[in-house]
Amino acid sequence: MHSPTLLIMATMLMGIVTAVLFGVRRYNRNIPGLTSWSWSYLCGFLLCINLLARPHSPELLNVLINQTLIFLTAYLHLAGSRTFIGKPPHPRLLAGIAALVVIATAIYFTLAVPHPGARFTIGSLVSGILFLLAARTLVRGGANRYPARYFLGITSGVHGVFLLIRPALFGLEPTGVFDAGLRLAISQFVVLEAIMAMVMSAFGVLMLINEHIIIALKRLAERDPLTNVFNRRSFLVLLDKAVSQCQRNHASLPVLVIDLDHFKRINDTWGHRSGDSALSHFVELAAGCLRNSDVIGRLGGEEFAIFLPGTALNDALNVAERLRGLVESRTVSSGSGEIPLTISVGIAMHLRGEAPELTLHRADEAMYQAKRNGRNRVEIAPETITDRATS
Ligand code: GH3
Ligand code: MG
Ligand code: MG
Repeated sequence: MHSPTLLIMATMLMGIVTAVLFGVRRYNRNIPGLTSWSWSYLCGFLLCINLLARPHSPELLNVLINQTLIFLTAYLHLAGSRTFIGKPPHPRLLAGIAALVVIATAIYFTLAVPHPGARFTIGSLVSGILFLLAARTLVRGGANRYPARYFLGITSGVHGVFLLIRPALFGLEPTGVFDAGLRLAISQFVVLEAIMAMVMSAFGVLMLINEHIIIALKRLAERDPLTNVFNRRSFLVLLDKAVSQCQRNHASLPVLVIDLDHFKRINDTWGHRSGDSALSHFVELAAGCLRNSDVIGRLGGEEFAIFLPGTALNDALNVAERLRGLVESRTVSSGSGEIPLTISVGIAMHLRGEAPELTLHRADEAMYQAKRNGRNRVEIAPETITDRATS
């Protein structure tokens, strides 16, 4: 029924794509969905081989393998798409029942009522539905940062629709309603469409993997790995942008510099890991006090900075006091016990025309003033810079 040359071409392409995906997976184990997608392609590859082996293998065995692989190819594509988007995989029971229906009908339409057309229809409908579900998952999925999911979603959707309508092309009769020439042309078109869908989907999957890796690298470059807040460099870039925006909108921009008190003592008394826990604990508390537009960064060691766009000095002072009180009231839970923690905070308002680093410097000065005044307190920077007195 299929043109052998086309089928051999499809098999070779499927084999290459499968090898590429498994190769990428070998070095990128943590890309969500990639394992299922790779196995989906492997099933597609085995499906092609099984189709090539059809004339030389027992019919029932060939049909069973065929229907199982058709189901698995589509189901694993759906599972990969769901995993990538961050959804749990479909209930195994549901998938198992669907697989059983496909296999049971394959046996029925081979042994009881031989009907290749019916087998083809059932296989096409089930995998069509699964591809459409994958398309919906990808297009609707919440991961807005991945534009390539639209490409893979649309490719899966178009393939799904084609799978649903293609049985109608042949008619349900085993002999079909067309003459042999037209039948061959249609079956060649079916294989060609499958090749197109497979190549396009492979592009889609590789594009998604690429986007995932770029985002992961960007995150590594921008964030502090321990606390997941912005590192010094990205914080300064964001502060620079915020300064320009606030100047344009005549909005106020307070900058807070926060240092954990006697942090060396925590490390020395409770151990370095407890010190790390204290840093994460502080960031968690801080995140709870901030709005979406506020930005927090780790300047280095146990020193953090926060800017609050469009916030007046009084409100910034309230935020700082709330955070100071919260840190004081919540001890750090560590393996070695409850560790008391306090912070010293300096606040500086950005002055019109002032370089962002200078504002940060004044906030830092105010923070050192808080240290000198006894720690566990908030100080506001004067509008001029004073030389830092050693504490
Ligand atoms: P002060 O109240 O004056 O700020 O005293 P301090 O002990 O906090 O200040 P100091 O600057 O003397 O000590 C900071 C310590 O922070 C020293 C350093 O070992 C520790 N530190 C820096 N980065 C990390 C980190 O990532 N994890 C841990 N556990 N400790 C860190
Ligand atoms: Mg400190
Ligand atoms: Mg410090």
